[in-house]
Amino acid sequence: MAHLVIVGGSDAGISAALRARELDPTVDVTVIVADAFPNYSICGLPFYLSGEVPDWHQLAHRTASEIEEQGITLRLNHTVLTLDAERHQVSVRDPDGALRTLGFDRVVVATGAAPQPSTLPGHDLPGVFVLHTMVDSFRVHDFCSTRHPEHAVVVGGGYIGLEMADALTTRGLHVTLLQRGPSVLHTVEPPLAHLLEGELRRHGVEVLTSTPLAAITPRGPRLRVWGAADVWRDTDLVLLATGVRPSTALAQAAGVALGPHGAIQVNRRMETSLPDVYAAGDCVETWHRMLDAPTYLPLGTTAHKQGRVAGANAVGHDATFAGSLGTQVVKVFDLAIARTGLLEHEARAAGFTAATTETTVWDHKAYYPGATPLTIRVTGDMQTGRLLGAQLVGHWQAEVAKRVDVYATALFHGMGVEEVNDLDLSYTPPVSSPWDPVQMAAQAWMTAP
Ligand SMILES: Cc1cc2nc3c(=O)[nH]c(=O)nc-3n(C[C@H](O)[C@H](O)[C@H](O)COP(=O)(O)OP(=O)(O)OC[C@H]3O[C@@H](n4cnc5c(N)ncnc54)[C@H](O)[C@@H]3O)c2cc1C
Repeated sequence: MAHLVIVGGSDAGISAALRARELDPTVDVTVIVADAFPNYSICGLPFYLSGEVPDWHQLAHRTASEIEEQGITLRLNHTVLTLDAERHQVSVRDPDGALRTLGFDRVVVATGAAPQPSTLPGHDLPGVFVLHTMVDSFRVHDFCSTRHPEHAVVVGGGYIGLEMADALTTRGLHVTLLQRGPSVLHTVEPPLAHLLEGELRRHGVEVLTSTPLAAITPRGPRLRVWGAADVWRDTDLVLLATGVRPSTALAQAAGVALGPHGAIQVNRRMETSLPDVYAAGDCVETWHRMLDAPTYLPLGTTAHKQGRVAGANAVGHDATFAGSLGTQVVKVFDLAIARTGLLEHEARAAGFTAATTETTVWDHKAYYPGATPLTIRVTGDMQTGRLLGAQLVGHWQAEVAKRVDVYATALFHGMGVEEVNDLDLSYTPPVSSPWDPVQMAAQAWMTAP
């Protein structure tokens, strides 16, 4: 392996590049990036826009020079237009618009995802934004700094919409959140989503559920956002956070097969259907460890792992992606909400005899100041006792993420709910109880009628 080319310089692409150089310092690695922001934490964009992270430069996982110090060649503001797997070449447009051809021995496609394109009237009006890249965030930031909007409508109650409802409120705007479905954050079950809706309202966010966006129309210098059933709100800024779709055009045109979810099909070595072409991150289908099937779960955690596997295999090592469980956590105002594994309806669809219990306990011994309630839903299989999933909501400093990670570790190893109860977990009164809430929720599941 003499030359590895990587298309894309975000979580997956840079992880692949670093791992390749780590394992084989003799390999030439070129990372081609369509923008000027390699290895930025786009997960941090809402916190830049809220003002909690004042300087966007702080979002860099690594600077460009730190990446280049690892012997990686970065081609910033270069776009790969075509990939010829047979000739082992990519054609690249440089910042001056000139076209060049670059040869490779192996290539990793890490082109990520892009916001779902909207066809609704008004989606392209000034004041309407999406948020996926650093440049997207500069647009929102500049608009807020120069136009001083007082009100925003956030469309979409997924985790990015929720983080942005929080961020814009923190920035001083009044926010209306428009959600198509009956509750926000469909990655958790409605009882927990309702707790989250209460938290949003407590902080002044107007939450309109079962209200799909219909159109956006100009209204003098402002915008009018129309939802279903003739609901409308006049606003200054609209953020469309209605999900992403994988950026597959380059790979697809090269003849790479797509999977059932429309993302690039890969095996667990992150090999595509074409020889010497690997792919990783938000552009690929992700192997679900429990379902033993491909899913589409675009997350930074997964992109990093898949990039590392692709980078290792591209330089002749033998790495396997261990699979995703869909583990995720989001902070919304004072709450953190997390899930791992399967929701009950997903588990049933997968053939499990699933049952769920909900438990609310203190996050630590109530006699120690500052105890807050933690609500945990545990899903297990009634026939085998196997743990199938868990969802948690609590104060963001109540170790929600640590606790979901205990369940995620148990799921990774196929453990039973009873085994979770038997784990030797830590305890001191300011942070837990002799039976950690993770275990109390497991006990509730075990003793449920
Ligand atoms: C606001 C926000 C918050 C998020 N928060 C979280 C979180 O808290 N936790 C979490 O796990 N995940 C989070 N995510 C998701 C996470 O950021 C993504 O899963 C992750 O960035 C995916 O990385 P990637 O490398 O696959 O793709 P992307 O980050 O989409 O990057 C794609 C790269 O490919 C380049 N590219 C594309 N096409 C070409 C081409 N033709 N030529 C050259 N370069 C090209 C782009 O310039 C870019 O460098 C968040 C995402 C957003 C937008």
